[in-house]
Amino acid sequence: MLGPGGYVRDILAMPVGSSVEISGWVKTRRDSKGIHFAQVNDGSCMQDLQLVIDDGVLTAETLALVTTGASVTAGGELVASPGAGQSVELKVTGLAVHGGADTVTYPLQKKGHTMEFLRDIAHLRSRSNTFGAVFRVRNAVSYAIHRFFQERGFIYVHTPVITASDCEGAGAMFGVTTLDMQNVPRTEGGAIDFSQDFFGKPAYLTVSGQLEAEIFALAFSNVYTFGPTFRAENSNTPRHLAEFWMVEPEMAFCDLAGDMRLAEDFLKYVIRYVLDTCLADIEFFTKRIDPTVLGTLEHVASVDFEHVTYTEAVEILRRADRTWEFPVEWGCDLQAEHERFLTEETFKRPVIVTDYPKQIKAFYMRANDDGKTVRAMDVLAPRIGEIIGGSQREERHDVLQARIVEQGLDLEPYWWYLDLRRFGSVPHAGFGLGVERILMYLTGMKNIRDVIPFPRTPGSAEF
Ligand code: ATP
Ligand code: MN
Repeated sequence: MLGPGGYVRDILAMPVGSSVEISGWVKTRRDSKGIHFAQVNDGSCMQDLQLVIDDGVLTAETLALVTTGASVTAGGELVASPGAGQSVELKVTGLAVHGGADTVTYPLQKKGHTMEFLRDIAHLRSRSNTFGAVFRVRNAVSYAIHRFFQERGFIYVHTPVITASDCEGAGAMFGVTTLDMQNVPRTEGGAIDFSQDFFGKPAYLTVSGQLEAEIFALAFSNVYTFGPTFRAENSNTPRHLAEFWMVEPEMAFCDLAGDMRLAEDFLKYVIRYVLDTCLADIEFFTKRIDPTVLGTLEHVASVDFEHVTYTEAVEILRRADRTWEFPVEWGCDLQAEHERFLTEETFKRPVIVTDYPKQIKAFYMRANDDGKTVRAMDVLAPRIGEIIGGSQREERHDVLQARIVEQGLDLEPYWWYLDLRRFGSVPHAGFGLGVERILMYLTGMKNIRDVIPFPRTPGSAEF
């Protein structure tokens, strides 16, 4: 019978003498006199299980198929391993090859490949050490996210992927249509006639679930969304994807201070969870990808985050002995170079920047009394820059309505959003965390395309 179970991770912890069966893929094969070794990995952990195959145990045909890339099921007895790197190995008594792999054409060779090359073979890169570790950590992060919020009584809400209003203006949107592109229906004025489209009006892929999450927060008090998010930003940067995963908690009866405290607790929780459950993977990243990974994670999990207002941040940047690529002036948005300077050089720890000028932030952020700034907060982390963006929301109906108009937006699509301010409105706040951004932080991977299984970026959607 074939069935799930018998992971390498568990077998490596079993006592000598245990009789076990393992299924996985051969990483490497090596032969010495009268004895053959195969390293088998099943994705359950960084380490391989070493198979030891004595001459005569397998037929010559089967043995010939045990090569790098082949899938096998092997049975036998665990024995103490004389070799370095593992305490036990499997003395094979039987083995079946499910699928061989041609040693010449199998793209994943033992030699180090570049990340670019591995991206081109995304159907195989998850079998490599690096991507095995990345996607195990990604799994742990996903679980930690749910655990953090569930432990605190937050309700998980599925916000829509298709939306009919560019509610946030957070980024360029992907259109969703069933209109015939070869023969688009037109109105008399010559515009595209969206009344004939599937939803009777233009529709898009969501850039954020926040506005819908607010509906749920005003019924369930504390909620979160966690799902795919789409932005058609044509920016080929190492930290932007067209499709990424975002976590968005939204809390009723909460102000900006409560929001920031939750964001800090949340980041620390996720980091600690990953350190507790994926230490071998984190050590691998520290050894092979970026020597600062483990140290900075331990540091971030234990220090208090710094707080600074946008206005103070601009002062610091203007005083800094630096030539900036992008200008630093009150009213301009902070760029990655500025964000990294603040967190890496000025404070040497995560920094939460608050109270941004209203003209560079979304309409729904709560206006401060100074008439110039809003209750926004961005959490900046060393190496990455912005990792979380959030705010206290404008809960006053008339102020919100004025802000929508002021930003040149149409009031009509926001009727339900404004309604929330007419019926039982409360101070509320929330934030968005890009899952891939925190994964870059946890793994030290330099390009966001290498922390998502199947990256979507301008000009690229293979796999
Ligand atoms: P940035 O300035 O880095 O483009 P943003 O200000 O557009 O970010 P928000 O709209 O506040 O970001 O989105 C919330 C979070 O989603 C960000 O803090 C970031 O972690 C993540 N994020 C935003 N855009 C992308 C993207 N294109 N790819 C991956 N993650 C993203
Ligand atoms: Mn952006």
